[in-house]
Amino acid sequence: MSNKLENTDRLCLHTITTKPWSIEIALEQYAGAGVRGITIWRDTLEGRDLKKIRRRIMDAGLEVVSLCRGGFFPSADETERERAVLDNLEAVHEAEAVGAPSIVLVPGADPRQPLEDSRRQIEEGILRINEEAKKAGVRLSIEPLHPMYADTRSAVNTLSQANDMCDRIGDSNVGVAVDVYHLWWDPSLGEQIESSARHGRLFAFHVCDWLSPTSDLLYDRGLMGEGCIPVPEIRGKMEEAGFHGFIEVEIFSTRRWSMDQSRNLKDIIEAYFQHT
Ligand code: ZN
Repeated sequence: MSNKLENTDRLCLHTITTKPWSIEIALEQYAGAGVRGITIWRDTLEGRDLKKIRRRIMDAGLEVVSLCRGGFFPSADETERERAVLDNLEAVHEAEAVGAPSIVLVPGADPRQPLEDSRRQIEEGILRINEEAKKAGVRLSIEPLHPMYADTRSAVNTLSQANDMCDRIGDSNVGVAVDVYHLWWDPSLGEQIESSARHGRLFAFHVCDWLSPTSDLLYDRGLMGEGCIPVPEIRGKMEEAGFHGFIEVEIFSTRRWSMDQSRNLKDIIEAYFQHT
């Protein structure tokens, strides 16, 4: 295992990482910088003709890794749960239109009900959209989120829980997304990555860093190398388990969004080579 990445062939950026850029500018800039993969956040597609976007992606020589994001299935309110299913079906069709082979599911949670209820509703939601997703050729990646988000964003907080959920669903179209920000602290991470790999469900790998101290629990992520997450070590575990897909940089940071975005992109590529 090499600790250094030698080229940008496996580098993917989430459009949210360069939030001030429109999808059109992001495509142009990423391609110009040698980035090969793009994970598209749905907000960037608003008001766009998806066929045109698909063409631009192909012209730029980029590969869509995922559409981000679906999920947010749980609610104590049944009408809201139905609305979430419809929204996820729409995401499936958007993914198909832009050529995304998978959708990242942020599972969701509702503080008005027990976590167990939210987990059950996540599973029900996934089962409701999975057939349509399969028809569209779109895989579903469950992304466990750090437990600090267990109130409203995710009742699935460890890779072990995500693996258990995949076992219960029992369909190869449903797998997991491993995000170092959410899972770096878990002593069973290596074991769970191996378990995901054994079942052929290691679909995605997201990187950034945990700043210490962190000033905002959502919008203060760091570049790889700026914080305390052993990113190269976790990448090593992914690769030892057989994962050789894209390494997706996903950084929500009001600090970095306020920078010149060309500078932001340069810093990301440097951090990718040196600290990933
Ligand atoms: Zn992520």
